[in-house]
This record gives sequence, structure tokens and C-alpha cells, in this order.
Amino acid sequence: MRARDGWIAGASTADQLAVRRHNLAVVMDHLRLSGPMSRARIAAETGLNKATVSSLVAELGERGLVAEGETERGAVGRPGLVIELDTTVHVSLGAEISVDYLSVLAMNLRGDAVAERRIALDASRLSPEEILARLAELIRDVLGDLADGTTVVGLTVAIPGLVESVSGIVHAAPNLGWREVRVADLLHELLDDPGIAILLDNEANLAALAELDLRGTDAPDEFILLMGGVGIGGGLVTAGQLLRGACGFAGEVGHLQVTPSGETCRCGRRGCWETVIGLHALLALAAGADDVVRDPSVDLDERLGELRARAERGDRRTLDAIATITAALVSGAGTLLNIFNPRLLVLGGYFAVLSPWIEPGLREALHREVFAPKSGGCRIEFSGLGYSAAVRGGAVQAASAVFDNPSAFPLTPLVRTVQEVGPA
Ligand SMILES: [Zn+2]
Repeated sequence: MRARDGWIAGASTADQLAVRRHNLAVVMDHLRLSGPMSRARIAAETGLNKATVSSLVAELGERGLVAEGETERGAVGRPGLVIELDTTVHVSLGAEISVDYLSVLAMNLRGDAVAERRIALDASRLSPEEILARLAELIRDVLGDLADGTTVVGLTVAIPGLVESVSGIVHAAPNLGWREVRVADLLHELLDDPGIAILLDNEANLAALAELDLRGTDAPDEFILLMGGVGIGGGLVTAGQLLRGACGFAGEVGHLQVTPSGETCRCGRRGCWETVIGLHALLALAAGADDVVRDPSVDLDERLGELRARAERGDRRTLDAIATITAALVSGAGTLLNIFNPRLLVLGGYFAVLSPWIEPGLREALHREVFAPKSGGCRIEFSGLGYSAAVRGGAVQAASAVFDNPSAFPLTPLVRTVQEVGPA
């Protein structure tokens, strides 16, 4: 959408305020996607006139959303100060409830992580209330790591299952053993009503958002993310938007039935894709029941690091396990490529950790599996975000409150409580 200039003769005050709100969002979004730049360049690239841009930037500055940075280099003519997103005032929070861990991340408006914590967890042994109490504690720890005076704009929690984002209810998360859990309400209570919006979303959807955010203006419009964990999550992006389906439940690729007479899945059905390529399937193939890589009390990074080390040493059982998983990965991914013809397939979670052993077989076999020539022009990449993808995506989604409606954030610069309160 092209930006429109500030004040239009004959338009009502309400129209003019709506245009102003829209233009504030245009400037914020442009800085987010394209990085710091001068007022003149913002004007040239958004189509807004220079006087309007100056006025919008002044207002965004008063709201603590942008700041003046270093002089722009390489510009023709007189160098000017660049405008950049203010990284000192607002942060958004992402959290993730996984089968193996809990994590929380605080991100500034530029997308840098400013505080992050993660703890190992064996979700199968704990009730939803116990898990949420631990998550609330972890959120408090991250808030404690932030500079005084920081304002939190929202929290989005990633869940491995079917969620209703607006009401904050998890309908079903089979790998957590959850049904109908009112996560947002419980977190509001546990955090003593923190005065911020708490939203939920599916973890693979949020991981896909993080991948798109990372790629900025280079993000493809047709894109599939597959997250390899205990469950297999899918984030499907078509025409530049997450495909959510009629009720928001799209993307449950882990429950594609691939072996009708196969193992019973945690969802109650038989032979789901995640029963053959989920983390537990990999670990059961790669190691005995009392092996450290199968101990849920040990941090997942450590366990996967050990598996990588075994693959590097050429351990036969580990390499055979990865080859078996790769073959089953190809058959499901081929189906998805045949249906969606994405420009890019990103593999995250444990697939990325084991990419040196998965990638060679995967590329070649996918070419055979997909009907269109050369996999329909689909590139394959492995995520560089590790197990932070969903939690980063949560913070990206929570930050959209600022980018979609900058005028909702306070006009008066926030008072730095460090001087007001002084030492305790
Ligand atoms: Zn299933």
C-alpha cells in the first residue's frame, strides 16, 4: 500500500487522524524492513512528502519509538542524520512452552535479543498449572534483566498445538498432554495482571514469522518452515501471509498420516508423520533407553550436541538413524512441495542441528519425489535460529502492536525509574 500525505483538504478530522496513524505505521515499518536512513530517503522511498516525514518522525521520537543516529554515509549532497528505531525504551516478549524446555526472550524494536532465558523441562511429568508457574517465574527473571524504565509492549506465547490466539486458550497440545487450557488467563493471574496483552500462537507459525522477519525485504512470498522437535510443526506462508485456515488450525503437518498401520501418535491417530521423524523417533533409533541423549532432564542442546559428536566420529548407529529419518522426511516434504510449490523450504529445530548429514540425501531425493522439475524451483535452507526460532517469532508478533499502531504508545517520553527510585 502506498503511503498518503498528511492533511487532505476537505477530509474530516477523523479521516485525517486515520491517515496520520497509517503514515506513522508506514514510517515504522519502512525503518524495520530497510534499516536506518535519513528523513529525505524515508520520503523518497515511501512516497510521503518531506515535511510530512519530518512531522511524523518528530512524533515517533516523542513516543520513544525512533531516535536520531549517526550521519548517513555515501549519500549525495549534504550528509544528514539518520533516523533509526529506538532500541532503548520498548521491548516485546516471546515465550515458548515446549515438551523439553521453557524459554523467554525480550527483544528491542530493532529485533535484537536483549535478554533471554531457557530451562530444561520434562513437560510429561508436570501439570499445566505447574508448567505455567515455572514460565511465569522465567518471565519475571527476564523482566529483572531489563534496564530500569523499559516498557514491555506485549507477550506472545508459542505452543506446540492448536491454539485460539484471541481468547488465549490451548485446545489441544498432544505432546504436552494439554486440552482446553486457559493459558492467557492463568498467566495474567500468575504475573499479577501485568497490564500487557498476552497472546498465544502455534510454535511453528511463530518460527515462520521469525524466519520471515530475519529475511526482511528478501523474504519470499511462498515459503514453508518445518520444525523438527518432539512434534513436527509446519509454518505455511502463501502470498506473503501465514496460512491459518478457517479456524486458525492450519499447518498441522506432523499429523499427516504416512504409515496407516504405524505407531499410535500422541494425538490418538495412527502413523502420523511425527511418529516417524519426530525427535523421539530419531533418538529411539540412535540410542538405547538409558542413553544420556534420551534423558529429558538434560538440556536438549547438550543431547543434540552429543548426537552430532557421534555422527562426526562416524558412529554407525547414529548415521543409520539419521538416514532413516531423512528418507521419511523426504516423503512428507515431497507431498508438501507438490501441493504448495514454495520458493523456499526452511528446516529448523533438530533438522538444522543435524543438517550436515541430512542435507545431501534430502536434496537429491526431493528432486525425485516432487513432480515439478527441480523440486518446482524450491530452495532448501536450514534455520540459523536454533531453538530460539519460536520464541523470537513470539517477540516479533508481540512487537507488531507497536508497528501496526504506533500512536497507541505514550506520547510523553517515559521517565527513567533508575533516577526516580534510586538504590533500594
Ligand atoms: Zn498425530
